[in-house]
Formats: sequence, structure tokens, C-alpha cells
Amino acid sequence: MAEGVNVFISADMEGTAGVTGWEETQPGHLLYPRAQELMVGEVNAAIEGALAAGAGAILVNDSHDGMRNLPPSAVHPAADLLLGWPKRYSMAEGGRGHDVALFTGYHAAAGAPGNLAHTMTLHLVEVRLNGRRASETLFHAGLLGVWGVPVGMVTGDEVLGEHVAELMPWAVFVPVKRPVSLTAAVNLSPERARARIREGAREAVARARAGGLRPLVLPAPYTVEVVFTEQDRAARALTCPRSERVDNSTVAYRADDFEEAYLAMRTLTRLGTA
Ligand SMILES: [Zn+2]
Repeated sequence: MAEGVNVFISADMEGTAGVTGWEETQPGHLLYPRAQELMVGEVNAAIEGALAAGAGAILVNDSHDGMRNLPPSAVHPAADLLLGWPKRYSMAEGGRGHDVALFTGYHAAAGAPGNLAHTMTLHLVEVRLNGRRASETLFHAGLLGVWGVPVGMVTGDEVLGEHVAELMPWAVFVPVKRPVSLTAAVNLSPERARARIREGAREAVARARAGGLRPLVLPAPYTVEVVFTEQDRAARALTCPRSERVDNSTVAYRADDFEEAYLAMRTLTRLGTA
């Protein structure tokens, strides 16, 4: 770490302060440019905080939807920017080999009472890992954990905060909004959200330097279950080799290896969305 801490930032959009509805997270919507501006403001705050604590190289992985949301010329010039799709490891792509990962704009899992809560797609009720509700945060932190990369900070709404505190007590959580319903929330002003994220990122990178973070290691074996909103979605997901039918709307996959369980989750959710 003599050359500074190598920082990986995975940036989603739904957990950004000021973004509360599905439509505005989609390119083409009237409010999408506003959501982009809010998203990049939080990403830049994380970069500034990381730099203040001695970050070296910084890679930002655009992790929302088509993964081309961050306007390159608006991103802090200290960071490299991973844009585009498809990516085998999605929100964790590019994270291998870094000293610490920071998740910005993340959100609660499908089935949880968070603002814009979902897991990979809107067409499912819940994803479970070993019988418990699982989030995008859990799956991507688990994948980074396989690579030995700890998550040092997560930002999003208060419901996500409870999940992060349970899953990764060593990580800084920065709440930027309080859910009122699935598509409503009380938001911090962008200025205050960014100030807290700047401070959270600084603290996370300082913890990384001090050896105070742990990679998330989820114990094997792994059973992934995806509960779809409609039976025909489950039927389509069942075309995945080695998947198993649990009931009309639920498909399971068992693996001894976390990367395989992760890729199965991606495959099942994608097949069921098609
Ligand atoms: Zn997203």
C-alpha cells in the first residue's frame, strides 16, 4: 500500500438522495438527467473522501441498469470509469485486486420495505441465499469477498443500513434517505448527502489502511432461491441447467462455490426477466 490504497467504487442509482421513483432511473425519462447529476455528485463525494484518506488508483464501476449512466466528463478526474454492459460480474466487475470497495447509491433487497427496493430485476418477489432474503449488496460484497476485497462503505436508505450493519459490521454505512413507501422517501439535500458520503469514504479508506476491514466470507454450501412474480417467469428460469423447481413461482440452485452461486443467481434472474 506504499503507493496509496487502491479503491474500487461500485455506483448504483436507486439509493441516491433525491432519486425516489423507477421512471427517473431510466434513460429517456424527463427526470433522468437530474438523477444522473445526483448520482455523479455522490460518486464524486466518495472519490474526494477516498483521496483525502490517501487513495491511490480509483476505479468507478457504473453499476446501474445499462451501466452507462455516469457522464464521463462530470466524474472526478482522479478516477477511471468502467462503463457499459454486459459484464460477467456486473456491479462487482473490475473489483478484483483492489484494497477496498465502496458502494454508492445502493438500495434494499426485493421484499424489504426500502425505497426502490429490488434485486437485479423488478420481476421477482424475493431472492434468498440459504433461506434468508438476499440483496445486491450481499451478492456483490460476497463476490468481492471471494477475491479478498473488503467493502468499507455502503450508501443508501435506512432500511439498507440495517442489512449492512448485520452483514458487515466493519463497514461505514451512510444513510441518505428515509423510505416512506416503495416509491417515496424523505431525502437529505444533495449537499448534506455528499458531505456525509465524503466523510464516510474518508473513514472507510482510513479503516482499510489500518487493517480494520474484513472481506465478507459467506459459509458454503449455497442455495439460491428466486421467487418470481409470475409462474411463466419461473418456468423460463428453469431452463438453466442444474436449477430445481421449488414451487410454481420459485426456482432454486445449489452450489458449493460462491462464484457459481452468484452466476446462477444472475442467470436465473435474467432468464426470468426475458
Ligand atoms: Zn440500479
